[in-house]
Amino acid sequence: MTNKQEYINQAEEHLLHTYNRFQTVLKRGEGVYLYDIDEKKYLDFAAGIAVCSIGYGDKRYTDAVKAQVDLLNHTSNLYYNPPIIEAAGKLLEASQMDRVFFTNSGTEAIEGAIKAAKKYAYTRDGHAGHEIIAMNHAFHGRSLGALSVTGTKHYQEPFEPLLPGVRFAEYNDLESVKEQITDKTCAIILESLQGEGGIYPATEAFMQGIRALCDEHDILMICDEIQCGMGRTGKMFCWQNYGIKPDIMTSAKALGCGVPVGAFLMTQKVADMSLVPGDHGTTYGGNPLVGAAISVVFDIYKEDNILDHVNEIAPYLEAKLDALVEKYDFIKARRGLGLMQGLELDPSVPVGGICAKALEAGLIVISASNNVLRFVPPLVIETAHIDEMIEKLESVLV
Ligand SMILES: *Cc1c(COP(=O)(O)O)cnc(C)c1O
Repeated sequence: MTNKQEYINQAEEHLLHTYNRFQTVLKRGEGVYLYDIDEKKYLDFAAGIAVCSIGYGDKRYTDAVKAQVDLLNHTSNLYYNPPIIEAAGKLLEASQMDRVFFTNSGTEAIEGAIKAAKKYAYTRDGHAGHEIIAMNHAFHGRSLGALSVTGTKHYQEPFEPLLPGVRFAEYNDLESVKEQITDKTCAIILESLQGEGGIYPATEAFMQGIRALCDEHDILMICDEIQCGMGRTGKMFCWQNYGIKPDIMTSAKALGCGVPVGAFLMTQKVADMSLVPGDHGTTYGGNPLVGAAISVVFDIYKEDNILDHVNEIAPYLEAKLDALVEKYDFIKARRGLGLMQGLELDPSVPVGGICAKALEAGLIVISASNNVLRFVPPLVIETAHIDEMIEKLESVLV
């Protein structure tokens, strides 16, 4: 196969049709640009859905991963291995958490977080049967446990019955959360900034209110940092913007900047009453290959002062997006924090069409919810890239 249409035809014949993919076949990446098999160049403002935060082809990253491939890829969790031990230390330091379990994806991190919370309450109360509060419009993943706390009915319906004992509240509405608390509630799970649901940042009152409710009722606060974490909002983890600390948190996406990895983390207080040998496991999770990737990602963040860079450059992106809100009637609002931004469009404007036209124009942007243009670029973008993005985007906005 050599041409684009042949690849696409074969993909549509062989792959299960669970995605309506963009009509491009990507081949390589360099910096913040992607190239398709015809060498067409795209400015990437999606980063593989908030994954490739150091961009593409960073030599420190590729060298470290290649060296580990030559040395050892996999051992299973029956043995110790150096890269994941180093990675764990760096992740715990950055997150101020005490214990971590590595998974292969975000959804698995959510599964683990739910099990950890249930086990904590089981140990405390001496019985099972606890409930979880989740948020409307939340997204936590596609496996059945994660889907059970994902607050979008059409994702859930064909797969019901899901996990029992999940109650939904309204994001940024503390009263609605209070109404769902019962004597069985063991955890409240929320994204520190809702991503797929439409780029909704939490208010400070909401995050602090949830923390206070959890403290009052011995409920565990679980922050899903899978999309908004790893520096995207200007702090290493988004909850660090709010002067609170969760009891359990999840990470994935940019954690390995392209290798499949996730993690759930907890405080020592939770760990002391939670999962023990026999309760949880994974064959691949935290293998040496992903350990090397995570470890070098943290080194690069430090060396390049990625957090400072995000904080410096985000106001420029915000100002440029705000100008679009001013200029175009059908762009209703901008929402977001740092380099996780969304433009809400009038429902009459098909957001998918704009993304497809942008791709034609050499710009990769994606949607969130059904009327939000989502901007989650590599964190290493410069102002010139933002200018180029705005120019390309405007060329298809007319
Ligand atoms: C992407 C995402 C997930 C699921 O991660 P996968 O790696 O796709 O399983 C969970 N929570 C949030 C907030 C996400 O953005």
